[in-house]
Amino acid sequence: MSALPAPTAPRPIRELPDELVSQIAAGEVVERPASVVRELVDNALDAGATQIQVRLLGGGARAIVVEDDGGGIPADQLPLALKRHATSKIGSLAELEQVATMGFRGEALAAIAAVAELTLTSRCAAAAHATRLDARTGELAPAARGRGTTVEVRELFFATPARRKFLKSDATEVAHALEAVRRHALARPDVGFAVWSEGRLLAQWRAGDAQQRQREVLGADFIDRSRPLEHRSPGLALHGRAGLPEAARARADLQYLYVNGRHVRDRLVAHALRSAYDDVLHGQRQPAYLLFIELDPARVDVNVHPTKIEVRFRDGSALHQAVRRAAEQALAGSRAAVLPAAPIAAAAPSAGWPAAAQGRLGLQPARSLQTLQALWAAEPPARWAPADAAQPPSHAAGDAVVAVATNAGTADATAAVATLCGTAAPPAATASGATLAAAPPTASVPLDEAPLGQALAQLGGVYVLAENAQGLVIVDMHAAHERVLYERLKRSHGDAALQAQPLLIPLAVALTPAELATAAEQRDALRALGLELTPLGAASVAVRSRPSALPDADLAELLHAVLAELAQTDSSQAVQRARDDLLATMACHGAVRANRRLTLPEMNALLRQMEATERADQCNHGRPTWRQVTIRELDALFQRGR
Ligand code: ADP
Ligand code: MG
Repeated sequence: MSALPAPTAPRPIRELPDELVSQIAAGEVVERPASVVRELVDNALDAGATQIQVRLLGGGARAIVVEDDGGGIPADQLPLALKRHATSKIGSLAELEQVATMGFRGEALAAIAAVAELTLTSRCAAAAHATRLDARTGELAPAARGRGTTVEVRELFFATPARRKFLKSDATEVAHALEAVRRHALARPDVGFAVWSEGRLLAQWRAGDAQQRQREVLGADFIDRSRPLEHRSPGLALHGRAGLPEAARARADLQYLYVNGRHVRDRLVAHALRSAYDDVLHGQRQPAYLLFIELDPARVDVNVHPTKIEVRFRDGSALHQAVRRAAEQALAGSRAAVLPAAPIAAAAPSAGWPAAAQGRLGLQPARSLQTLQALWAAEPPARWAPADAAQPPSHAAGDAVVAVATNAGTADATAAVATLCGTAAPPAATASGATLAAAPPTASVPLDEAPLGQALAQLGGVYVLAENAQGLVIVDMHAAHERVLYERLKRSHGDAALQAQPLLIPLAVALTPAELATAAEQRDALRALGLELTPLGAASVAVRSRPSALPDADLAELLHAVLAELAQTDSSQAVQRARDDLLATMACHGAVRANRRLTLPEMNALLRQMEATERADQCNHGRPTWRQVTIRELDALFQRGR
């Protein structure tokens, strides 16, 4: 143990010098060149600019120059613009509550001037010439430029070398600055933007419509792999695009959220969006999206964070619900219209196909056989162990059900799934895995009426090969069956509560005060999940029942997780989601395993079930369940002209 320093006489309390106050305050607003760019572009937009140019030198540390054609600042007010807490944008608390401008604190220019050399050159429409103010000397001088404002920021952090050391390479700082402009550019397609670095034009977006701007900023790839998202209710409008599962990314770097035109980060909305992907995206993958939320400014507090990157909503749970629904709807529709065109065009779907099946199965031509292999490479078949009772299959997302299999054998798990479906266990169930329900008569179905065609064979113990009007269909049988089962479980389970299994000995679980409050408020929701709680002293509860479907889950962990969910969302959604997770786990276990030999009728049964199942294109983890290889692609492989 190190000795504490000897107590010394207390230092006197003193007021900090103004300059130091400004520098400390600046630390909250100006973190790096990109923060300066964001603040200056905010100001240009607030001034009604239609063209904004951003120029960077040395990654922005040497110089950031932002030029706009907005309304300008009258010469006599230039010094005021640099003062802390001086703003033209609000004048009262009432105005703050309705604020529609990007800025309102009157802090940015003062903060930047505290940590860099800053000059402000501006001209209003009425002025005979522009005026330039040097922040350091306070000197005003006539200058030449048209209407608008130029802010030059040089030698960022020159007076605070410690902060300058935190800057990354020029290229990284430029990338961040460019990202700051992209965020603005997405929100304001009516404004033209150009970004230069070291005299080179990095990006330019001309004023145009929103769709064109989104395609330019986010890339055609995202646009082609996303669907429009739309919602309107009294006092709330949502619009944007929800990326399809196949557009998901390893990092959360294509998630753009705007509230009344301001780019923000928000956990509640991010959670709502993520939960819309629960069924189709593996936990590690990050959805891509662009979402604009428009609501009454009085219903959102933008004044909760130094850089205004966070906001607080008055009615979070209603918003959560609206966002989740809108995203789910965007994702649930027909995918055919939005799939990227294949290099080799697929034959047009025959008009004779049942419309519903066409809609459900977005007919997606595979790009090439190589792509096909790559698509499945992420999930090598070897991962699925042969399913026999002695060696139960493992599944990363299905620990709880794997335990069921260990204890009770696979046939019981199948029976459990069947019970959940509200049906008896399929008669042909065997210990080697679940059975596919009896196929409807398939022999007579003409090829051009079955989108997924007729089964031909099984390949590598993993794929079902079929022939349809376009050519070859390849199905990942486990993924496809898992999906079919999951959708069926969800449908038949409806909104019923999960079965509870009373505990012989109640389990005491210590909870935080926040958890206790949630537990008290959400008793009914917890009961619907199979969790019966009674208070136990001031800081814990007694758990008296557990969901019978999860006999081996760690009950305390489960409770903490459920309470965390319930605290975030309104209860009905949390219940729904928790149940979906359970069903997904069960479906995975109930689905046919690799290396199980299927008969042709079984394969055809699977194909027909897929056609009848919503969202059958993807397994629960967002991987594709089937792919099309067209005759033309096969011809191309063999260099066979037709
Ligand atoms: P805020 O934006 O919060 O008002 P700033 O420090 O960013 O605070 O700007 C202070 C004031 O300077 C603004 O309220 C505005 O009147 C004026 N101003 C700053 N930049 C511009 C600009 N590009 N065009 C016109 N006026 C500007
Ligand atoms: Mg500002």
